[in-house]
Amino acid sequence: MKATPGIDLIIINATATASDVVPNQDIAISDGKIVLLGQNLPALFPSAATLDAEGAYVTPGGVDSHVHLQQDNSPTGDTWESGTRSAIAGGTTTVLAFASQKRTDESLFPVVEEYHRRAGGQAYCDYGFHLILTNPTPTVLDKELPVLVSSGISSVKLYMTYQPMRLGDGEILDVMESTRRLGMTTMVHAENHEMIQWMTEKLEARRRTEPYGHALARPNIAEDEATYRVISLSELADVPILIVHMSSKLAAAHVRAAQTRLLPVHAETCPHYLFFTSERLKGENFEGAKCVCSPALREDPMDLEAMWAGLANSTFTTVSSDHAPSKFDHPLGKKKGTSSFTQIPNGLPGLETRLPTMFCGGVLTGRISIQKFVELTSSNPAKLYGLGSTKGTIQPGFDADLTIWYPTPEQAASHGTSVMTPFQLSNDMLHHDIDYTPFEGMEFTNWPRYTILRGQTVWNRDAGGITGSKGDGAFLKRGPSTLSKPRNVFVNEFNPYSREPSQAAKSSGRDDGETLTGHSSSVKLRSPQSCSAKAWKRPLRLAGPTQASPVTQSPRTTIIPPGSWNPPRLWKNAVAYAIIVAGVNACEAGYA
Ligand SMILES: [Zn+2]
Repeated sequence: MKATPGIDLIIINATATASDVVPNQDIAISDGKIVLLGQNLPALFPSAATLDAEGAYVTPGGVDSHVHLQQDNSPTGDTWESGTRSAIAGGTTTVLAFASQKRTDESLFPVVEEYHRRAGGQAYCDYGFHLILTNPTPTVLDKELPVLVSSGISSVKLYMTYQPMRLGDGEILDVMESTRRLGMTTMVHAENHEMIQWMTEKLEARRRTEPYGHALARPNIAEDEATYRVISLSELADVPILIVHMSSKLAAAHVRAAQTRLLPVHAETCPHYLFFTSERLKGENFEGAKCVCSPALREDPMDLEAMWAGLANSTFTTVSSDHAPSKFDHPLGKKKGTSSFTQIPNGLPGLETRLPTMFCGGVLTGRISIQKFVELTSSNPAKLYGLGSTKGTIQPGFDADLTIWYPTPEQAASHGTSVMTPFQLSNDMLHHDIDYTPFEGMEFTNWPRYTILRGQTVWNRDAGGITGSKGDGAFLKRGPSTLSKPRNVFVNEFNPYSREPSQAAKSSGRDDGETLTGHSSSVKLRSPQSCSAKAWKRPLRLAGPTQASPVTQSPRTTIIPPGSWNPPRLWKNAVAYAIIVAGVNACEAGYA
């Protein structure tokens, strides 16, 4: 056994940035992991290779948690190979893409197997799958999801719109019941389908079929209503959610209000909702189709400002690309919709540009801090989607996934180094397999200079670019979210997850569990002694409440006055916990 780890690489002179900004750091890497942070590390490990960050920011590798690659509904876009190649060229080292169930798919297993086949051996960066559920049968929810969770797929995405994908409110609640039980993260595309349908019919009847019709058909109000509705569904079901790709000021205000009420509601937005208005859909020669996405780009710059404000004040948990690639000049790509916007494939390419646009347009302009940038683009998505112990920060023990930027003017001045030569982006500089970028012509004053994936330099911009290979990326088995979980708080005294009364209890006219309520929270307990009716007549005293606030006992329901019952304390209290466990063991599962 080695007395000291064999150091493979040391990044020197880094302004290491995660939750804190620490200048003049060296980052030592061994076997793909960060093992040491400190100063003058090359003196300790003189044989290790070094890479000089020249005083620039080194941020955790980007985690893009909303990416569409090689789905059946986008036949002209990126493959796993080209998509993940563009990821590393833009500083992203992890993508979470989708394995998409079709309505006709009775089982998820062949779907997941097929997406594994498509991605396996092809990826330049690490990856995982979210499941898109469009046919959530009882078999899928009860039998298949638990298996898929144990195989490392810990999130689902649901659609409230798109005819072939959308679920009704009742179906969403059924899915939420399962994801809550399994500790899965639930992502939701929130737009009101019927509103959009109705507007689309009116627009088509008046021959407003040009790309801009897409924006007219999907007004803010469709997003606002569905956002409020899905927050309500999640509150009813007591399940954390993430609302994907948000674009509307009022919808974001609904999220903010929910968070202020302590609901575990997360939200995501994307660079295109921060930089573009719906004017983009009005271009000549069908150019507007390039910016057709859902929700639509917004008309009023006030919405864009609200998205920036939501980033700065933490309404948003993540910034993703929603990379949804379709070629423009292709009969099955954007040009499929020349006769009507309804046929234009939705979505924009953005995997490679996500970090540079947020770094230049957010950090360097002072709209968000560098720490907030790291949170939104790496740490938070890692935590929310069950990668919080391996990805998303610069700490010993974490994967050595790093993005090294060019020095800012201040960093260059203090280290005697130089800044990147600014440039205007053109699509031929990018590494995706799409024939356009919505960011064409945008000026960039910084860009990822190096991308490091588990200790290996996979992108070196000054030395020709891609230095990694397809197959470098590994499938990531993900666990539960470490950002939020159900609160065990229900909208009234009824816990929808409590078990049905047993036959015996029904015949004796009594439920065999008891509901303790307070602060609109309820916990279902069983008698610690036995399940017999007799046992319930004995006084039950929990260790949390004291003599002054005894748990009074009645044959039917025990009510604890608000103020004397503190649910979190119950779980911290070993004695109370033991009582509950004893009860559960005696009578099988008895609370939820
Ligand atoms: Zn999407």
